[in-house]
Amino acid sequence: MKSYKVAIVGAGPAGYFAAQALQNLATNEFAFSIDMIERLPTPWGLVRSGVAPDHPKIKSVSKVFEKIANTPEFRLFANVELGSDITIDQLRERYDAVVIATGSPKGKNLGIPGEELPGSLSAATFVPWYNAHPDFKDEKFDLSSQTAVVIGAGNVAMDVARMLALEPSELDPTDTADHAIDALKESAIREVVISARRGAEHAAFTSPELRELPKLEHTNVVIEPEDISAAIVRAGDEIEKDTKSNLDAMTVIAEREPTSHERTMRFQFMATPIEIKGDGKVEEVLFRRTGGDETFSIKCGLVITAIGYESPSLEGIPFAHGKVVNDEGHVDGNLYVVGWAKRGPSGVIGTNKSDAADVMKLLVSHLDSPKDSGDLTEIITHEKVVTQLHWEQINAAEIAAGEPLGKPRKKAVSREELLNLGAL
Ligand code: NAP
Repeated sequence: MKSYKVAIVGAGPAGYFAAQALQNLATNEFAFSIDMIERLPTPWGLVRSGVAPDHPKIKSVSKVFEKIANTPEFRLFANVELGSDITIDQLRERYDAVVIATGSPKGKNLGIPGEELPGSLSAATFVPWYNAHPDFKDEKFDLSSQTAVVIGAGNVAMDVARMLALEPSELDPTDTADHAIDALKESAIREVVISARRGAEHAAFTSPELRELPKLEHTNVVIEPEDISAAIVRAGDEIEKDTKSNLDAMTVIAEREPTSHERTMRFQFMATPIEIKGDGKVEEVLFRRTGGDETFSIKCGLVITAIGYESPSLEGIPFAHGKVVNDEGHVDGNLYVVGWAKRGPSGVIGTNKSDAADVMKLLVSHLDSPKDSGDLTEIITHEKVVTQLHWEQINAAEIAAGEPLGKPRKKAVSREELLNLGAL
């Protein structure tokens, strides 16, 4: 029986699905021992720090991750960073294969004047802040204005807009970071504009997310019927299934009887942002009507850009266009890549399953004789490695702390606090 050692860097959905694919590919002739490396003290990637806290069902995939982790040939090495604690070359020398699954944590910029003003930020900052990511816990946002603008027409823009437009007490029974619930309870924002540069027929929202909007109990959701009827005309008869499903969901919203809650989420289409203006901080966003010359502005104190992500480069790994240079997931030699770092920031969590399975099949087809050259335990010098057992302690402590509060968990926010919970 041959046993191959595979290091997976990044404990998000793509990393876990890569591990699962290897477990499924094992036969009587060969097996895999998997070492998963994660720079945070906690695993689960975007399932912990990306998925909106008011969408707890999406997070139930973490049960699958724990099942993958609870196998004898799987080890977690969290609180270990590629680039500082270990290098890619050290991994490549010791493992039969190395799989990069580090995602795309960097938000794309609009590249327009005024984007650097205080009050203008990326969803890549705002989302991890409300999800208790340790690196974003000290971010402060000015929520004192009446209006916020969210730029982008994808599910991240929708998550951000919803989080700003919900009645904040609706977040009490969720695992939203306490600092975010406190700040949102103080927020003066009552109108959130989601702004798309193209028409509704091109929106990147998915229809399940649109269909749940009318269920919001304390927020008016406004879509202008003319925006949707014009989109239907432009989309024509040979409309794709997903586009039709989106436009149907938007029609339901547009045709609803208006509600009169204190908070409003309003969609605007065909609006290209051209400048963010303000004296020392954001005061308005200037738009041009897409395809025309007309300009208009929205007064606001907060602009959040949710227009996609890119991967920051890692030393020793070839990057181009915000992702790792690869051929069907193969980088070179014994190096592979999966998830957003491979294909860019698209697709839902489940997309990573089939994607990682394809890359792992390719990896297995390239395997030769197993190496006998050590592992990362001989490289890491610090004592604060969060293993699966430590993580299970952290996880159990967070869940126990949430229970009396009616929350699925109360997240620890700082690295120190997390390590303490793990008795490290
Ligand atoms: P996305 O779905 O790719 O949407 C990005 C949006 O930004 C598009 O509407 C795009 O418009 C717009 N955009 C890009 N460049 C722009 C610019 N310069 N100016 C103005 N608008 C610009 O990305 P995402 O929202 O970050 O989501 C990433 C992936 O995660 C998606 O596959 C998404 O479905 C998934 N996700 C899923 C869930 C869920 O299932 N609940 C939640 C969050 C995220 P154009 O089309 O005009 O380029």
